[in-house]
Amino acid sequence: MTSNPVLIVGAGPTGLCLALWLSRLGVSFRIIDQASGPGTTSRAIIVHARTLEMYQSLGIAEDIISHGSKLENVTIAQQGQIKGSLKFGNVGTGLSPFPFILFLPQDIQERVLIDHLSSAGITIERSTSLESLRQTEHGAVARVRGKDGEHEGIVASYVAGCDGARSTVRKSSGIKFEGGTYEQRFFVSDVNVEGHIPTGDVNIFASGRDFCIAIPLPGEQRYRVLGLVPEDVKEDDLDFSDIQPAVENNTKLGITKVNWFSTYSVHHRVASQFRDLNVFLLGDAAHVHSPVGGQGMNTGLGDAGNLAWKLATCLKSKTDRAILDTYHQERAAFATELVNSTDRIFTLVQSRTIMGTIVRSFMLPYVLPFAFELPWIPTFAFKKNSQIQISHPQSDLSTGKGAGSRLPWVEVGDSDNYESLRSLCWIMHVYGSASEETAALSSESGVQLYRFKWSDSMSKAGLIRDAVYLVRPDGYIGFLEVGSGQTARDYMSRWNIADLN
Ligand SMILES: Cc1cc2nc3c(=O)[nH]c(=O)nc-3n(C[C@H](O)[C@H](O)[C@H](O)COP(=O)(O)OP(=O)(O)OC[C@H]3O[C@@H](n4cnc5c(N)ncnc54)[C@H](O)[C@@H]3O)c2cc1C
Repeated sequence: MTSNPVLIVGAGPTGLCLALWLSRLGVSFRIIDQASGPGTTSRAIIVHARTLEMYQSLGIAEDIISHGSKLENVTIAQQGQIKGSLKFGNVGTGLSPFPFILFLPQDIQERVLIDHLSSAGITIERSTSLESLRQTEHGAVARVRGKDGEHEGIVASYVAGCDGARSTVRKSSGIKFEGGTYEQRFFVSDVNVEGHIPTGDVNIFASGRDFCIAIPLPGEQRYRVLGLVPEDVKEDDLDFSDIQPAVENNTKLGITKVNWFSTYSVHHRVASQFRDLNVFLLGDAAHVHSPVGGQGMNTGLGDAGNLAWKLATCLKSKTDRAILDTYHQERAAFATELVNSTDRIFTLVQSRTIMGTIVRSFMLPYVLPFAFELPWIPTFAFKKNSQIQISHPQSDLSTGKGAGSRLPWVEVGDSDNYESLRSLCWIMHVYGSASEETAALSSESGVQLYRFKWSDSMSKAGLIRDAVYLVRPDGYIGFLEVGSGQTARDYMSRWNIADLN
C-alpha cells in the first residue's frame, strides 16, 4: 500500500480549508467525504475578520468577499416596534484589513473553496466514508468504504479528522467529547413573510417569553427565521405550525410560506485531546458550542490554518515533532475559552429564569442599543468577536513577551505589513532599525527580513520599535525580542526554522 502524507476526513468548511492550505504549502494529501456532494444549506453565515486575514494569505479573500455582503446593522424589535439599532459597517477600522463582518452562507463559501481546490487540481473523493482508524508506528491506516461499497485501507502519515460533531476519527481514537446539551430546543426556517419587517441585515425580536432572529434571504420578503422553540410546545416531532402562532405574535408578521424548517438541540463540548499521536481533530469534530457570535465555523477554519503549516513542517524537515503538540496547546485552549464564554451569554439569552426574562425584555431592546452608541463598545465587540485577539502565549512555540499573539496589522504606504504573509513561510519583521546581527541571521537562514520605517501608527497598533519579530506562516508571532539576534538564532535552531523556507 502506498502511503499518503495526509488523509483529510471530511470536506465541510474545515476540511476544505485545510486542503487549500496543504495544497498551497506543497503537501500532497487525499480528502474524502461520505456525502455525495457539497452541503446545500446556508448554516453558518458569518465570516469574521481573522478568517478573512487567513484567506488573504491563501490568496482567496477577494473572491470570498465578492460572494458575500457586509453586515451594516442589526435592529432590535419588541412586539413589532423597533427599539434600537446597532451599527456595524467598518466597525474595526484600523484593527484589520477587513474591519467588518462578512455575511456569506456556508454553502456558498464551501463552493468557493471547492472551486479553488479544483483549480489547483484537487479532487474530493465523494461517497467515501471512513469506517475505522488504526494508528501505526509511522502513521495510521484508515478503513474506508467507497462509492460502490468496496473497502480500501488508506495509509497516511497523518490523519486530519474534519468529520464534524459525530466524528468517526474522534470515536476511533477513543477521545472523549465532554460537555452537555442545552435543554431548550431551537428552530431554524426559511420562510416568506408579510407585514413590515425591520430593515436590518439581522433583526432580533426579543420579548419576555420569546426570542427569534430574522435575516433577509435573496428573494421578495424571504427570511431565515431562527429562535427558541416556545416553552409550551412539547411535541417531539414538530412542524412549523406548532410554533407559528408564537413567531407571529413575537414578530407581528404573517408567515405566508414555509420553504424549509428544522429543529435542533445545541451542544457545548470540547474534545479532551486535539492530537493523538498522528491523528488530529479539527472543527466541529473537536468543539461544538452555541451559535452566539457566529464563532463555530470560523474556529474550525482557524484550526486548519494552525495545523496545516505544522504538518507541512514535519513532512518537509527534521523539525522536532513536538511542534505538533502545540496544535492542541493552542487550539484546545481557545476552544475551551470560547465554549465557556458563549455558554455564559447563551445560557442567559435562552434562560426561562427571571434573569433571562430581564435580558430579553429589557437588556437587549433598551440597554444594548444605548451601549452601542458609546464609541468603545462596538470596537470592543469587534475585537472580541472577530477572533483577532486569539493569542497563545502558553504555547511551547511562543517565546518572548507578546509572542503567541496575531501580528498586529498596520498600513504601510499603499500597502500593509500583511502583504508579506502571503509567502506562507516564516518571516522576520522589524519596525524601525534592524541590527546587523538580525540582518546576518536573515541572510544565513534564508528567512526573509522585512524592515518597516517606524511610524506612530505602529505604536498605536501595539508594535514595538526595533524589536525582532519572527512571524509564523499563519501570521502569529512565534518569537519577539528587542535587541540582539542571538536568542532569535537559538529559537530558529530549536524549531529548525531555516529548513522550512
Ligand atoms: C442549522 C445550522 C446553523 C448553523 N449556524 C451557524 C452559525 O450561524 N455560525 C457558525 O459559526 N456556525 C453555525 N453552524 C455550525 C457550522 O455549520 C459548523 O460549525 C461547520 O459546518 C463545521 O464545519 P466542519 O467542516 O468542522 O464540519 P461539518 O460541516 O459537519 O463537515 C463534516 C464533513 O465530514 C463528513 N463526514 C462525516 N463523517 C464522515 C466519515 N465517517 N467519513 C467521511 N466523511 C465524513 C460530512 O459529510 C461533512 O461533509 C450551524 C450549523 C447548523 C446545522
